[in-house]
Amino acid sequence: MKIICIGRNYIEHAKELKNKIPEEPLFFLKPETAIQPKGHPFFIPDFSQMIHYEVELVIKIDRIGKHIQEQFAHKYYSKIGLGIDFTARDIQEECKKKGLPWEKAKGFDGSAQISRNFINKEDLDIHNIYFSLNHNGNEVQKGNSKDMIFSFDKIISYVSQFYTLKIGDLIYTGTPSGVGQVKIGDKLNGFINNKEVLKVLVK
Ligand code: MG
Repeated sequence: MKIICIGRNYIEHAKELKNKIPEEPLFFLKPETAIQPKGHPFFIPDFSQMIHYEVELVIKIDRIGKHIQEQFAHKYYSKIGLGIDFTARDIQEECKKKGLPWEKAKGFDGSAQISRNFINKEDLDIHNIYFSLNHNGNEVQKGNSKDMIFSFDKIISYVSQFYTLKIGDLIYTGTPSGVGQVKIGDKLNGFINNKEVLKVLVK
């Protein structure tokens, strides 16, 4: 199983980190160990002084495919969930400056938080999924799939040119603006269409 993450898929988020708007999807991988057993708290790793939350819609792949055409991409997933792409922003900035890969800042244990439940695609309007994140009870991030630069289908089509997609693979589809830092004792709650689907306790 692999975890594919899309970067800079919302204009306002690209701007807040002073990045250019991408012309094609930007992606990176997290290892399977980035997902922790369900119900575990998230432990801030020792090597970073600045862990940021990034709430994202997540597609679960349920059909194997390669070189998938965009028009058929919808056949490769049937469920959508919510995740947090935890990022060691201080380490990422260092890597970016040196032109190095980001894996150290993105793939650590617990960095891929995932909702317990996924919602059937049929129960959602794919082009209008509202999602949000509360940080200690205050709403800090909100987004809508209609504002993605690259749609779910475009992402699947693009990524599958490089990697065979397999059943169970997860694709984190990018975060809207409002990313911020977590501290020990924080609580994060994630919502899809105002229904809570994700809870993370930070330790
Ligand atoms: Mg992200």
